[in-house]
Formats: sequence, structure tokens, C-alpha cells
Amino acid sequence: MKFQNIKNLQTFTTISEIKVAIAAYKKSSKSIGLVPTMGALHQGHLALIERAKQQNNITICSIFVNPIQFNQLSDFEKYPNTLDADKMLLLTAGCDILFAPTVEQMYPFGLPELSINFGYQNTILEGRFRAGHFSGVGVVVSKLFNILQPTNAYFGQKDFQQCLVINQMVRELSSEVSIKIVEIVREADGLAMSSRNKRLNNQERMQATAIYQSLQMAESQLFTLNFEQIKRKAAEMLRNAGITMEYLDLVAFDTGILMYEPQRGTKYALCIAAFLGEIRLIDNVVVIT
Ligand code: AMP
Repeated sequence: MKFQNIKNLQTFTTISEIKVAIAAYKKSSKSIGLVPTMGALHQGHLALIERAKQQNNITICSIFVNPIQFNQLSDFEKYPNTLDADKMLLLTAGCDILFAPTVEQMYPFGLPELSINFGYQNTILEGRFRAGHFSGVGVVVSKLFNILQPTNAYFGQKDFQQCLVINQMVRELSSEVSIKIVEIVREADGLAMSSRNKRLNNQERMQATAIYQSLQMAESQLFTLNFEQIKRKAAEMLRNAGITMEYLDLVAFDTGILMYEPQRGTKYALCIAAFLGEIRLIDNVVVIT
């Protein structure tokens, strides 16, 4: 524990109160770095906080389990809630402000009817398999941007397609917020850190390492097998570990377009989603060919 970082963590739960604080920071020209999260914080989130602290005068972490981005009610209801531990982590990480509103505070008129259609991105990867997910993400992130007026906002590469749609939103709406992407933080055995990992039992936690291993296999075979063969091999690897692969896809890193065969001299993301029982995990690796 790094005690030298410990200072005050100001916690706000209402929009009206945090807006007053934001107005004061804006008046004194302080830069604001926002790290939006759903809590159950781990080292992956803390890497985002660390980056925000390096680049801004004030770092805000938001914790809000956003009901409108869950396409399965059970996933929303079982989402881990560790608010007290989260506060300790934020305090030791030296985060300045926690914004932790309730659902009623964020959506006082009931769940929003507004939706955002990301077009092509809705047809691939997470957009294809999680109907309404990115609309919910887009609405809550826009709302957080409106309330908190960040100079910079930090997102994890772990949610590769989320980074694509947030960049699309900012670009297409001419938002002033600068989007910063932070690389994936992994456990020692390669499993990408995720709040949902907390729901895995010991056996499932060991099985889950096959997800990153299948991505490494796919990367190593990119120019020796065709992509359909790679997908079949990955599905088999995962099946042997008791995991059901939902998709493995290759996407051009910069444009977010689905690719069917890799070419040399290009940057891709290999993206995967898989189920351990009812727990759905995603991961990706960036490949420069
Ligand atoms: P979440 O709380 O899962 O919505 O995540 C909040 C932010 O943390 C998102 O921008 C995620 O992409 C990012 N994040 C989650 N896990 C990791 C990780 N293992 N490494 C880096 N960033 C992450």
C-alpha cells in the first residue's frame, strides 16, 4: 500500500452537488480526467486512474452500474458491488473524486428512452451479440460527459469495441472530450482482469486462462491457417477447457472493420467472447503483422 498517495477522496452521489464542484474547477482552469467504471475495481481500473492522474489536475472516477447497458437482467443483478473496497483502492491510488450516483439519481425520469445507433459497429462483435449494449454505453457516457465536463476521458483497451464506439460518438457529435486508451492489465497467468472474474469459482478461474491462450494461438497461426480454421481450433481449445466460444473475430485496428483474412503490414485486433457457464468474458490482443 502506497501511503504517500493518501489524501482526501471526495465522494459525491448527486448530480447537483458535483456540478457545483466541477464549476469551481472549470473557473480555475483545472483539467479534469474522468475514468468511468461500474465498480468492483481492480488493477485494470487503477491503471486508468494512474494515467488520468499523470495527465490532469483533477481525477474523477465514476462508479455506476448502468442498467441500460445490460442485455441480460441476471447479468445486471449479479454484477459485483464492492463499494467500500473500491473507495479504499481509490484513496490509496490518489484519486481526487468519486462520483457514485444511484440509478434514481442518474435516471430520475425512469430509464431513458433515448438510444444511440452506432450503425456498422452494432452489426459486429459485441454489437452483434449484445443488442442495445452500446446504445446504453453511449447514453451513459454522454450523460457523464455532460455532468462532469472532462478534459480527458480514459477507457481500457480491454473493451476494444467500446473504445471504437466512444471515439465514433465523440467524432460524430464534435465533442471536446479527448479520449485516451489504456492497454490491458492481465493476471500473472494471462487472464485479462475483469470485474466479472470475481464471479468465477476456483475451478472456473483456472479454466478461464484458456481464453487468452486461444488468442495467443490465433495470433501465432494468423499466416499459417486460414481464419475459419483458426476459429475452429480456438473453439475446440476452449471446449476442451469447458468454455463455450461465442465469437473470435479479426478487426482492422484503426477502422474497426471486420476482416476475413489478414494482410501483412497492418494492425489488427483479435477479439474474443466466451462463456464459462453463464459468465461471459471478453478479451483481445493487438496484432501488428
Ligand atoms: P468496467 O468497470 O468493466 O465498465 O470498466 C471500466 C473501464 O475500465 C473500461 O474503460 C474498461 O475497458 C477498463 N478496464 C476494465 N478491465 C480492464 C483491464 N483488465 N485493463 C485495462 N482496462 C480495463
